[in-house]
Amino acid sequence: MKLFDLTGKVALVTGGNSGIGLGMARGLAEAGATVAIAARDQERAKSVLPSLGDKAISVATDVTDPTAIENMVAATVDQLGGVDILVNNAGTNIRGRPEDMKVADWHTVIDTNLTSAFLASQAVYPHMKKAGGGKIMNNGSMASIFGLPFAAAYGASKGGMVQMTKSLATAWAVDNIQVNCFLPGWIDTPLTQRARQQLTELHDNVLRRTPAGRWGAIEDFAGIAVFLASAASDFVTGTAIEVDGGYASLG
Ligand code: NDP
Repeated sequence: MKLFDLTGKVALVTGGNSGIGLGMARGLAEAGATVAIAARDQERAKSVLPSLGDKAISVATDVTDPTAIENMVAATVDQLGGVDILVNNAGTNIRGRPEDMKVADWHTVIDTNLTSAFLASQAVYPHMKKAGGGKIMNNGSMASIFGLPFAAAYGASKGGMVQMTKSLATAWAVDNIQVNCFLPGWIDTPLTQRARQQLTELHDNVLRRTPAGRWGAIEDFAGIAVFLASAASDFVTGTAIEVDGGYASLG
C-alpha cells in the first residue's frame, strides 16, 4: 500500500545489528527504505546486513560518544544521500539495587539510552528540516511507565525518553518532523536473555503477566517501525505507543 511505502527514504537505526533494532531495520527495508545500522559490534553488523537489502550499510558507532554520533549521521548522509528516518533504539541496562548503584553505571545507562537519542536527534534535525520533514522514533520501555526496583537508571532514562519525545515533537512539528516513542513489553532479545539468566523467575512471570500469553518477538516491531516512518503517521506526533501484548493495560 502506498501509504506505507518507504521507497527512496533513508533510515538510520541505532542498535540495528541486534534484537528490536534489527527487527525494525528489517521492516523498514522491506517497506523500501535504504537502511544504515549503527552499533559497536561490526562482526554482528556484517552478519545481519544481507537481511537488510542490497544498499544497507553499517556505521561503527559508540553512542555514548557525542563525536561518534555526529560522525554516524555524517557517514549516513555522505553514503546514502540523507537521513529521513531515525530510530533511537540502542540501549542497555545495568541491574542492581539503587542503594548500591555506582555513579559511573548511572551515567553509562543514561548516556547510552537517553543522551544518545537527544544528540542523534539534534544531529539529524538540520538534514530533515532541509529535506522538508522527517521521522524520529525513540525506544522506551514498560519502565517508562512502571517502577522496577532493580533498574533506577534504566527507568529514569526510559521515562525521560517519553518526555523528551514530547519536547522534540512540539518543537519540530512546524518543520514537518514527527517524533514518537514506542514502549516495548517483554521481548525475546539478547538483552532479556541475559536478564533471564540473572532473574530465574522472569521467564514464567512474563508469560503470566502478559495478556497475549507470550514474549514479544523482534518481528513484532516491523509494523510499528513502518507506521511511524511512513506517511501513515504524518499527523501523529509526541505519542508513546505500547507494543506489549497488552502488558501495560492490565491492572
Ligand atoms: P539487544 O541487546 O539485542 O540490543 C541492544 C542494541 O544496542 C545492540 O544493537 C547494541 O549493539 C546496541 N548498543 C548498546 N550499547 C551501545 C553503544 N554504547 N553504542 C552503540 N550501540 C549500542 O537488546 P534489545 O533489542 O532488547 O534492546 C534494544 C532496545 O530496546 C534498548 O533500548 C532496550 O532498552 C529496549 N527495550 C527492550 C526490551 C526487551 O524486552 N528486550 C523492552 C523494552 C525496551 P552493540 O553492542 O554492537 O553496540
